Amino acid sequence: MYHLQLKLAALLAWAAAVACEGVVAPVPEARGPGDCPPGGVNYAQLAAKLSKAAQIYQPGSSAFNAAVARWSNLSIPVANVVVVPSTENDIVQTVKFANQNSLPFLTTNGVHGSITTLGAMTHGIEILMSQLNRIAIASDGKTATIGGGVMSKNLTDALWAAGKQTVTGTCECVSYLGPGLGGGHGWLQGRYGLISDQFVSMNVVLANGSLITIDQNSRLSWAMKGAGHNFGIVTSTTSKIYDIQHPNYAMATLIFSGDQVEAVYRVANEQWHSTGKTMPVNLINWSYWFFDPTIDPQKPVIAMYLIQEGVSAVDAAYTQPFLDLGPIINQAVSGTYRDLAAWTGISLDAPPCQKTGNANPRFPIYLKSYNTTAQRLVYNLFAQATTNASTPFSNALFMFEGYPQQGVKAISDDATAFAYRADNLLVAPLLSYKPTGPALDEVAFKLGKQMRQILYEGSGQTSLNTYVNYAYGDETPLAWYGSDAWRQTRLHALKGDFDPTGKFSFYGPIA
Ligand SMILES: Cc1cc2nc3c(=O)[nH]c(=O)nc-3n(C[C@H](O)[C@H](O)[C@H](O)COP(=O)(O)OP(=O)(O)OC[C@H]3O[C@@H](n4cnc5c(N)ncnc54)[C@H](O)[C@@H]3O)c2cc1C
Repeated sequence: MYHLQLKLAALLAWAAAVACEGVVAPVPEARGPGDCPPGGVNYAQLAAKLSKAAQIYQPGSSAFNAAVARWSNLSIPVANVVVVPSTENDIVQTVKFANQNSLPFLTTNGVHGSITTLGAMTHGIEILMSQLNRIAIASDGKTATIGGGVMSKNLTDALWAAGKQTVTGTCECVSYLGPGLGGGHGWLQGRYGLISDQFVSMNVVLANGSLITIDQNSRLSWAMKGAGHNFGIVTSTTSKIYDIQHPNYAMATLIFSGDQVEAVYRVANEQWHSTGKTMPVNLINWSYWFFDPTIDPQKPVIAMYLIQEGVSAVDAAYTQPFLDLGPIINQAVSGTYRDLAAWTGISLDAPPCQKTGNANPRFPIYLKSYNTTAQRLVYNLFAQATTNASTPFSNALFMFEGYPQQGVKAISDDATAFAYRADNLLVAPLLSYKPTGPALDEVAFKLGKQMRQILYEGSGQTSLNTYVNYAYGDETPLAWYGSDAWRQTRLHALKGDFDPTGKFSFYGPIA
């Protein structure tokens, strides 16, 4: 067991050995055996203030290496030490300690955050939330209090066992709060709204180390629902939960040749995204583009997923217009809500839940409907980039996520910091590649931007509407949080009041 659990008995010996750990990273030449450079940090002082179950992982330990490994290996945050709190007070103490020692700190959870702004953290403390994983359902069955380190799948499973559910991210290995703080899309959003729309109250450790409870009447509540990464560490949230109404689901997978891009998305528009139309509340339509030479050795395919709630087979009314186009593959499955992640390739054992060392940048844009001309242009670019003989991007995935929006649009546009309730489709190329250095990173960046630009120009929109939780990191705060002046003014005012020195400014910083 390499975990260094700091206990009083070991404290003195350990303190001598690690008194210099966590020194300001950019001065390695100042370091040597037994040599404490200016700014050396004595983590033993922090350890003495933490609870018995809290842990501090040092560099060089396997626990440290496992904790700092991330899903996307591009512009990653760098830490000198990882603190694993087990109580709210551990977080309070860690933040105060970091402040006293002028150390940056970053909350980490499911480590699927991939925005490149995280790379601005070049040293300091990572606060890994994994031990704050309690889930407690209230006696009235209407809310659950969810620890700040709970994973999406754990929440789904715990609620399911009690006949309950709530909106979580779809991927089993992302945390509950990581997606939620940026808004949070999930299978149930058509019924109940975004993940963040479920927040009733929260315990939050602020930048100065104070622990507060906020509810719907708190000024900060608005910001935590869409721009929450900028304001504090959420130790727990109390969120709305619901009786399971429709446990069963069915999915139709229809795989098309890339030749049919225009036809496929024309049908999607005709069914759900043209004037007066909307996604039915019980239907989700995702599609992926990917190159699978076993299906088509020449070019990427289009996989359409029609996921319907409460049925054992997807209604023909939804599938037939696509079947009329003649898919290469037509498959159907049925099961329950808990099968959805496996069906769509985002369950715990699926590739997106593994840390492979790959860089995984995405270039997201929200759209209202598909522009079939733009779809063709961007498909051609994607095909060229994924199929040429020497490409590093053969595993790239283009994602088109069409969730039902009723629950999202039922909440007024200005009610929370999430700015994009009016949009219908979350679209992003995911340019997964094995990193080899800045030159390839630059190729990926240019390619991703070019793809997004095609979609942006085809959308007719006047602002780049970007989901902060998928963002590459080159976008502006206007793109992440909305270009309306009032949104920016309100966010800046809150930032000034709650985090004036920008302690929480690594993930999609407001300023
Ligand atoms: C495979 C995959 C599937 C995804 N599916 C969805 C989806 O269905 N819906 C959706 O909306 N998004 C989804 N996302 C995007 C997801 O919202 C972001 O990647 C998110 O940042 C992941 O959170 P995390 O805790 O896993 O990652 P982390 O990197 O650990 O956290 C990201 C950031 O969240 C903040 N944070 C996390 N926990 C806390 C906390 N307790 N208190 C304060 N700040 C905190 C920190 O700023 C941190 O830097 C998906 C991403 C991937 C890679």
